[in-house]
Amino acid sequence: MKVLLIEDDPLIAQAVKSSLIDDAYVVETATNGTDALSLIALQEYGFILLDLGLPGIDGMTVLKSLRGSPKKETPVIIMTARDGLNDRLEGLDAGADDYLVKPFHMSELLARMRAVLRRKAQSVVNTLSNGVVTLNIQEKTAKIVDSDETVALSKREYALLAALLARPGAILSKRTLEERIYEPGEEPESNAVEYLIHSLRKKLGSATIKNVRGLGWMVAKGHL
Ligand code: CA
Repeated sequence: MKVLLIEDDPLIAQAVKSSLIDDAYVVETATNGTDALSLIALQEYGFILLDLGLPGIDGMTVLKSLRGSPKKETPVIIMTARDGLNDRLEGLDAGADDYLVKPFHMSELLARMRAVLRRKAQSVVNTLSNGVVTLNIQEKTAKIVDSDETVALSKREYALLAALLARPGAILSKRTLEERIYEPGEEPESNAVEYLIHSLRKKLGSATIKNVRGLGWMVAKGHL
């Protein structure tokens, strides 16, 4: 994995870099915010380690700019000499995944990086999305992509939407959907699927689930 290390203190940069290399990371370094932003624009990094106090464009500005860019998912750990609570909170609010206060042990940095990567990998698995609606599997909530509003779902609404989102573009019959929303042994009610579709459309917008007459229902593959 390629790491961008943004740090203006040459001693710290060297120490961090050699530990990362020992841990099998590939490391590129930037010593100021301007260089960092041009590297981020040009390259793909699996991880960014960011010092907040940088000459010129400071670390917080780099972070905000990254989070507003197409590479906003890149994991970031802030390394700060400033022990102020406000700096840390501002960094986390601006989208840092974690922070370390200098001086820190390299083993702690490496452990935090692994934890962030594990968390990120999990959050990818824990959502289902067709690019229009995203379902949070852990929280059993849905969200229209690009909207801030999270919608709570009933157990059956969730089961039905999960079945559709597992196969965007595929038409699922009423029978298939019934099998997903009922536990084995439960007797299906005749209009349950229609009722749940109606209530999901009300919550998420009528275009999110399409009816294909006589065949069943589907969610679009990709954007509508
Ligand atoms: Ca610094």
